[in-house]
This record gives sequence, C-alpha cells and structure tokens, in this order.
Amino acid sequence: MTPAWVVAVDGPAGTGKSSVSKGLARALGARYLDTGAMYRIVTLAVLRAGVDPADSRAVARVADSVQLDVGQHPDAGRFYLAAEDVSAEIRGDAVTHAVSAVSAVPEVRDRLVQLQRQLAAGPDGVVVEGRDIGTVVFPDADVKVFLTATAEERARRRNAQNMAKGFDDDYAGVLADVQRRDRLDSTREVSPLRAADDAVVVDTSAMTEQQVVEHLAALVTERVGAPR
Ligand code: C5P
Repeated sequence: MTPAWVVAVDGPAGTGKSSVSKGLARALGARYLDTGAMYRIVTLAVLRAGVDPADSRAVARVADSVQLDVGQHPDAGRFYLAAEDVSAEIRGDAVTHAVSAVSAVPEVRDRLVQLQRQLAAGPDGVVVEGRDIGTVVFPDADVKVFLTATAEERARRRNAQNMAKGFDDDYAGVLADVQRRDRLDSTREVSPLRAADDAVVVDTSAMTEQQVVEHLAALVTERVGAPR
C-alpha cells in the first residue's frame, strides 16, 4: 500500500536530523523510519560475522541473509538483528567506524532500499530519515528536506551529546570523524549524499531543534494538509 504521504529528511551526520525527524513525526502523528539504523544493523552483522567491512563481496553475502527489524514509532525506537535488541550496540564506536564502508556496497543498498520501501508502505504518513531518501528511495516524496550545518557546529553538538552520556570531551576527534564520514558518504559511487534538486535546504547551524521542527511541520502541512 502506498503511504498517505512521505516526507524525506536527508543530510549529513550531526545536523540534528534524527531529533528533528522524530519531532516532526510526533507533531504530525506520523510514523518514523530511521534508515541509518538499518545500515548500522547490517554493519553489526558484518562485524559479528568476522567479515572485513572493506571486503565488499563478503559484506554483500552477509547483507543477503541478514534478518533485521526496526520500530516505527518516534518515541519507541527499538532495533533488532534477528530477534535480538541491538538498539544500544549499533550506536557504538565499532559500528560507527565501519558503517560508511558497509553502506557503500551496492548489494547492501539494493537490499535495504527495497526493505525501506516495504516498511514505509501503510495507510498513514511517514517521515523517512537518511542520506538518499529524496534522491533514490522516494524520488516522488511529497516533501523533501535536506538539513545542513557547518562541520564545526555538527561536531560541537555531537561532542556535547557524548559528554552528556559520560564520554570525555573530544571535540577534535569528533570533528575528524564528522569530516571523515562526510567525505566517504558524499564521494561514494552509489547514491552519494547530496540534496535532491527539489529539496528544501535548511541550514540548522543557528536554529534550535524546536525551530526546525516547527518550520518543517508548517511546510508539510502546507503541502499535504493538516494532521488528523
Ligand atoms: O544516520 P546515521 O548516522 O545513523 O547513519 C549511519 C551511516 O549509514 C551513514 O554515515 C551512512 O554511511 C549510512 N547511511 C546511508 N544511507 C542512508 C542512511 C544512512 O548510506 N539512507
């Protein structure tokens, strides 16, 4: 079944994309699909299988058989590899470090894009967050949003989040990781990170999360009508 409407939210790491996408889904009474988490689950399966993330043929074999499941409620995001809840583990350093290599493998993308289209199907609206949602997964999305912010601002936010979780202050390390992932994600051959031609580009550097959500909720309401 085609969803009532699709909002695609793309952009690099650290733009507040996840918080904003969840906030938007909540404000609109819609479902929420975190496609980055799906790439992370496949990456975890690759690491657990002892496969080198740079070995694309072996990665493709893992992706072919992986069983994954993701929640679609903005307030209850649980993520499963087979039946195991891996919600915390997929956010760890090992997965974060390897995910760009795994997500550059064409077979991984083919499998996950298909799954994303299946998961998004349903009677109501859905906010889908990722890197290639407006360009590849849902090129006909009702609203396409591309969030940006400077690399320094994104690193500052990520570092503050890490510190709030009890990690050491490591702004330089976080900035280097943000820049490394930007470079890998935007230069890969398959589905590089870029704004769709018809995306609304929002620079969140000087905006609060709430301001971004309100701005986008107004935009979506204008395009697809008020939430039920
Ligand atoms: O959004 P998140 O940071 O969890 O995504 C993790 C990684 O998954 C990204 O750095 C990117 O390599 C990959 N990804 C992707 N396409 C998507 C979503 C995520 O390639 N639609």
